[in-house]
Amino acid sequence: MSACRRMLYLVKHRSLLTHVRRNLTTWSPVGAAFNARPHRKLDLFQKNVGLFGVPELSCPAGFQVATEKALKNTEHLVEKAYSSSPGVQTVQCFDQLSDELCKVADLADFIKVAHPDPAFREAAEKTCIEIGTVVEKLNTNVELCKSLKNLLDNPDIVAQLDPDTRRVADLFMFDFEISGIHLDDTLRKEAVALHVKLLDLNNEFLVRSHMPNRIARSAIPEHLHLHFATEGSFIQIGGLHADSPNDLVREIAYRIYLYPNAELMGCLEELLKCRYKLATLVGYESYGHRALKGTMAKTPETVMSFLQLLTDKLSDRTAKDFKMMRDMKKKLSPRHSELMPWDHPYLSGVLRAERYNIEPSLYSPYLSLGSCMEGLNNLFSQLYGVSLMSEQPRAGEVWSEDVRKLAVVHETEGLLGYIYCDFFHRQDKPHQDCHFTIRGGRQCQETGQYQLPVVVLMLSLPHPTKGAPTLLTPGMMENLFHEMGHAMHSMLGRTRYQHVTGTRCATDFAEVPSILMEYFATDYRVISQFARHYETGQPLPESMVARLCESKKVCGAADTQLQIFYAVLDQIYHSKPQNRSTTEILKDMQQKFYGLPYTPNTAWQLRFSHLIGYGAKYYSYLMSRAVASMVWKQCFIEDPLNREMGERYRREMLAHGGAKEPMLMVEGMSNLFATNTDRISCLPTNICKAPFCANSLRFRHSSYPGFLPDYGVVSPLASCHI
Ligand SMILES: [Zn+2]
Repeated sequence: MSACRRMLYLVKHRSLLTHVRRNLTTWSPVGAAFNARPHRKLDLFQKNVGLFGVPELSCPAGFQVATEKALKNTEHLVEKAYSSSPGVQTVQCFDQLSDELCKVADLADFIKVAHPDPAFREAAEKTCIEIGTVVEKLNTNVELCKSLKNLLDNPDIVAQLDPDTRRVADLFMFDFEISGIHLDDTLRKEAVALHVKLLDLNNEFLVRSHMPNRIARSAIPEHLHLHFATEGSFIQIGGLHADSPNDLVREIAYRIYLYPNAELMGCLEELLKCRYKLATLVGYESYGHRALKGTMAKTPETVMSFLQLLTDKLSDRTAKDFKMMRDMKKKLSPRHSELMPWDHPYLSGVLRAERYNIEPSLYSPYLSLGSCMEGLNNLFSQLYGVSLMSEQPRAGEVWSEDVRKLAVVHETEGLLGYIYCDFFHRQDKPHQDCHFTIRGGRQCQETGQYQLPVVVLMLSLPHPTKGAPTLLTPGMMENLFHEMGHAMHSMLGRTRYQHVTGTRCATDFAEVPSILMEYFATDYRVISQFARHYETGQPLPESMVARLCESKKVCGAADTQLQIFYAVLDQIYHSKPQNRSTTEILKDMQQKFYGLPYTPNTAWQLRFSHLIGYGAKYYSYLMSRAVASMVWKQCFIEDPLNREMGERYRREMLAHGGAKEPMLMVEGMSNLFATNTDRISCLPTNICKAPFCANSLRFRHSSYPGFLPDYGVVSPLASCHI
């Protein structure tokens, strides 16, 4: 064979090889569906079925029609509640009422942020406002409350209620109580006025806490101007520039962005005062006590001891982390070697890169979206006997052509619900991975059927290209698993009442199922089932997965300690009024629970917008992580694909949504607690005895202004869900 011919042969042969190799990687139907480019058969004669199959929602004007229909049904149900004799039917009627409103409001809540067409977004926004107003009115409807009170005040009837109905009745009553409905006229009016004032203060704080600060250009060295935005003769600073390699840029950003604004400070102090006043008016010791009722922790005292125990447990590791950062700072900038709060995120990144230098693009080819979906499908079918089936959405059913629809099907129980996957990046779409409940599951008395849950998972992944499917970085893959944890919480729940469907559970329990999924996402026995190179079919090497896991441990304790400090601050701000300013409290707690020095003339609390949505529950993520870690270590670490354990997890935890005390679910799952031990006092100790995995803690629901997704319970209907 001549050289030239040989060359030609090789070229031909190589292309043949590549072709053959490409064909080696075959996917299951769900994998193939997510690795293919979206294609839709255009059928002009197909009937528009409306968003999520709701016939009214085929055009923006339909929102008004759906709203009116829901409000009319609501009126009818309110009448029914007034007239029915106290019993289980009272609670059923309340739940149906709640369902009528939530079904429209939750859907509108999603569409108002996600629909690409502004006309749809505006119509949905109007619906949210209209239903929100009705909800407010219902929460202060004395007659309606009375019909529930008649039930709860009758011990004979209460004794006959099943535990789920009893709990849901209590939860409805709790929502009523916060509006002061049980008070006399004067106090009730005061409670309502405080509510209204708080709505304004919350909004003001949310908006202003994200506003940039500015400083005269002349106050900043000229060579640094290029790092910031300029407006006339001012420099605008709208964030902490925490990842900037330049020490001075980080320091300037920290000092200016956190410089206290007197008006905003006044707003925060007034807000905390009003929250305290409202809580005490309706009978609680503090706002924290009110907020924590019904959670896993139950009281602020438990939360504080949990945070203290966590701090003690982490202290050696935190000290080591800070020492590493200090050494690194000395090396990088010998003249300013003291470790400051603005150094922490940057230096932990530097240390991680120095030790493990994880290059996400080396992992991505093994983590195509299709392979990850296939992995989830395999995992769920092994653990629960559940499959994810890709379905073609009907005309008008989805808001963007690239949204995929999954039917979740159990091997014996049949269809469990639907997950709409809005995975791809789109202009104007919030950059936030989150889970939305569109419709809750519930047993319909009217039809005798189970109303199937419907949820949306929103991510911001890159689109597939001509040559390659969407490839995920390890972080994106973990987020996908996390959000699917929420979705499966919704799908596998079979609650009788929609008021407690899936993720509508205690805030400090809501992240347990999703964080648990992160453990699956980093276990090689699970990853090896699906992570294959999209071209060659080669598996992702085990050593690469091990490196990734190790890299997460770097500075993990210090990162967690920072979150503990924020959670402590949130607790103290929501306890009884202190005789000192919010800044003095911050300074003190920073010293005690974090360790890096407070910088004079800064007020980080004015940027802590989570104070609004989480109010006294910012610790939730830490506690959920502690419980998820315990469940993983006790139940799945030996065999993450064990069907028996999967069934038990579904039965004891996922099936109940918010219908069961979270601590009872944890007990049922882990057998950790002695039956007669005081649960409250043993909660933090036991959690801390469980090997707490602080390594990969990060707050996912970081900061989208005024937008608190993911927790079904922190919607604008948060405190009501009626
Ligand atoms: Zn989450």
